[in-house]
Amino acid sequence: MVMIQDVIKRKLKFLVTAGPTVEDIDPVRFLSNRSSGKMGYELARTVIRAGHCVTLVSGPTSLTSPKGCRHVAVRSARDMLKAVLKHFRQSDIIIKAAAVADYRPQKKQLKKIKKKQGSLKIHLVKNPDILKILGSKKNSSQLLVGFAAETDNIMRHARKKMIEKKLDWIAINNVSRQDIGFLSDNNELILMAKNGGTILLPKQSKTKLSAKMIKIFVSDWQQKNLAC
Ligand code: C5P
Repeated sequence: MVMIQDVIKRKLKFLVTAGPTVEDIDPVRFLSNRSSGKMGYELARTVIRAGHCVTLVSGPTSLTSPKGCRHVAVRSARDMLKAVLKHFRQSDIIIKAAAVADYRPQKKQLKKIKKKQGSLKIHLVKNPDILKILGSKKNSSQLLVGFAAETDNIMRHARKKMIEKKLDWIAINNVSRQDIGFLSDNNELILMAKNGGTILLPKQSKTKLSAKMIKIFVSDWQQKNLAC
């Protein structure tokens, strides 16, 4: 039998991913994106402040890792997948705030590609969808949260992602706005729950936003696990 006190008082294990992934073309060139990592790092910091444990799997960023977290530095999407799978089973709440590159060069050239006449073609292949893999592996006590960076048909695309990746929550970012999101200290999010219900978290600092998000996720985890 599940004891209420055991669930409510339990120190939870979080797994948070953050930052971009970097996909090497040759020793000096790479493909990446504009993610600063701020959202994921703030979430990790909030988890520690709330008295829980966190493993932060991060692509390259200029940020300092929050004190008290277990930091795992990765570079490519495939590195991130490996690190996440290593920590996934023992995690209660998994938040995938990383901006994972969807494609990588088919082959990393060992020597710098020389400039030639005309154009250069780089063949890109699809990276694994880490979140989708986690969705297919998660158990009924785990809570899986994804992010959706959208520019158009925001709610429809997010809902589709949520269903495809079997998420409990999706945090929806409108990246067409310049004042929030990627490189900013502020963000505005819509949190969508599995049942389609939404919570608007209006524009505020990523620190305040993280505090509200972690509170919501912990409470949902507790309800889910009390119901077991
Ligand atoms: O790229 P997409 O918009 O589908 O990303 C939504 C969510 O999926 C994010 O939480 C991101 O971290 C995750 N993702 C992933 N692996 C990928 C692409 C995205 O885990 N290859």
